[in-house]
Amino acid sequence: MNEKKPFRVIIVGGGVGGLTASHCLQKAGIDHVLLERRSTAAPPEGASISLYPNGLRIVNQLGLRKAMDAISTPAKYLWWRRPDGSFFRQGRYYDYIVENHGRSSDLFERREFLQVLYDTLPNKTPIRTDAGVVGVKELPDGVQVTLNDGSVENGDIIIGCDGVHSFVRNAMWENANKVAPGLITEKEKTSMVTSWKGLIGIAPAEAKLGQRDATIVFGQGHSFLLLSDPERIFFFVFIALEKPFHWPERVRYTDDDVEAVAAGLADSPITDSLTFGDLWKKRYRGTLVPLEEGVLEHWYHGRTALAGDSVHKVTPNLGLGGNLTMESVVVLCNCIQEMLVAQNGGKPSQDAITNAFAKYQALQIRRANQVCEISAANTRGQSWHTTFYKLMVMWLEPLFSDRFGADMLGEMWRRAPKLNYVDLEDAKDIRLSWKEINLAKKQTWFQKKVRSRLLRSTIKITLSAAAVATVAISLCSWRIID
Ligand SMILES: Cc1cc2nc3c(=O)[nH]c(=O)nc-3n(C[C@H](O)[C@H](O)[C@H](O)COP(=O)(O)OP(=O)(O)OC[C@H]3O[C@@H](n4cnc5c(N)ncnc54)[C@H](O)[C@@H]3O)c2cc1C
Repeated sequence: MNEKKPFRVIIVGGGVGGLTASHCLQKAGIDHVLLERRSTAAPPEGASISLYPNGLRIVNQLGLRKAMDAISTPAKYLWWRRPDGSFFRQGRYYDYIVENHGRSSDLFERREFLQVLYDTLPNKTPIRTDAGVVGVKELPDGVQVTLNDGSVENGDIIIGCDGVHSFVRNAMWENANKVAPGLITEKEKTSMVTSWKGLIGIAPAEAKLGQRDATIVFGQGHSFLLLSDPERIFFFVFIALEKPFHWPERVRYTDDDVEAVAAGLADSPITDSLTFGDLWKKRYRGTLVPLEEGVLEHWYHGRTALAGDSVHKVTPNLGLGGNLTMESVVVLCNCIQEMLVAQNGGKPSQDAITNAFAKYQALQIRRANQVCEISAANTRGQSWHTTFYKLMVMWLEPLFSDRFGADMLGEMWRRAPKLNYVDLEDAKDIRLSWKEINLAKKQTWFQKKVRSRLLRSTIKITLSAAAVATVAISLCSWRIID
């Protein structure tokens, strides 16, 4: 690479992570190009995306709040329903999130969200659409990627934001194992697993499902999530696969698969007077997608770093994956910006790049694992994956207040990262003020090895015992009443 050329980042993928990365790099004045294989930044695919206080804080910092507020709906009510559609709980969960952080959970149509992320970019010159990456080469002093039209782009580092089937990740693995044979093991490569599929789509508004509501319908082997805004219902059915599979196995569902799954669910109640079939019949669109989950061990190698679904993929019931992707991009951009400031205009060495990437991974991997675990438990609880999960969600969870649930997630959100190089004025009148993660503060051996395991086991044992006790007491009380 030419020493005189400015440091240049190549972002592969123009989805949630890639577009956020372009915003963050533009704020830092770092030269970059974003390569997206589709012809538009906002294809009419998927259903919705919800942003929580951590994602909304990033949106705020990037100066996008007004534009995003104009296309989103803050959630207000949470309804829990049994498999027969009957109501058993309405929660104040979202009110508590507002009390805790000043913001709730904002619901966007996914396409509109991506469109605004693109439209609000201060400079669109770095964005290249119809630019599918088909080759990645790490050179001693830079990187070179080849596009499907044969053209090449040169840069200093690559950020792989190209989703769960990442091409950049495969190239990184190949390169890493050439340099250090066995570094990326088969175990790591197969650690993303697909145990669920999702039937997702958009239908017209439905009075029974409200205008700012989230409805969860629990079930055996599958669960429904319905999110409403004043005009639409975003529907999600999460279905357990009979046989989970791992990378590199991949499934692409056909239209016939979609119709067959929808037909099988048509009679399933959503409320006491609405079935899934009623929604499906009126749908604007609907599709079937595999739902992968897992967090990889290696987030970088050489001049390549991965961010978003390419390195941490979570099940979507709680809607945490896109927020986590934005967080990871923010942390990576902080580390890149800090590295460049230390270079004083010169090009960073491989060691400096490695240190920056290592810091990025160290700051974010624990959060990613936590989010993956929370999401996995949620998906399994809502679809009664085992008797334990069924007892937990139907008997035990209702005993806890919504405040407790909001506070548990709130502890995770309040430690979310922000851009270190952009001013931000956080709201003051909130219950859970923002906290910073300090890597310099060393964890003791006890904290690292024992505390988290001990805590997890204690929670599991206590919860199981409480669940069994609750059922027993409840059964006895019915006998006494009889
Ligand atoms: C059904 C469902 C609902 C969800 N709901 C929520 C929610 O409510 N809230 C939330 O926070 N998260 C949600 N998520 C998760 C969220 O959508 C993802 O975590 C997020 O999109 C990840 O962003 P990404 O940039 O890593 O990948 P993506 O958004 O998938 O973007 C990857 C991009 O890379 C491009 N690409 C791929 N290969 C190449 C290549 N070779 N060359 C060039 N470009 C390439 C693709 O075209 C794509 O545009 C949901 C996920 C699913 C499946």
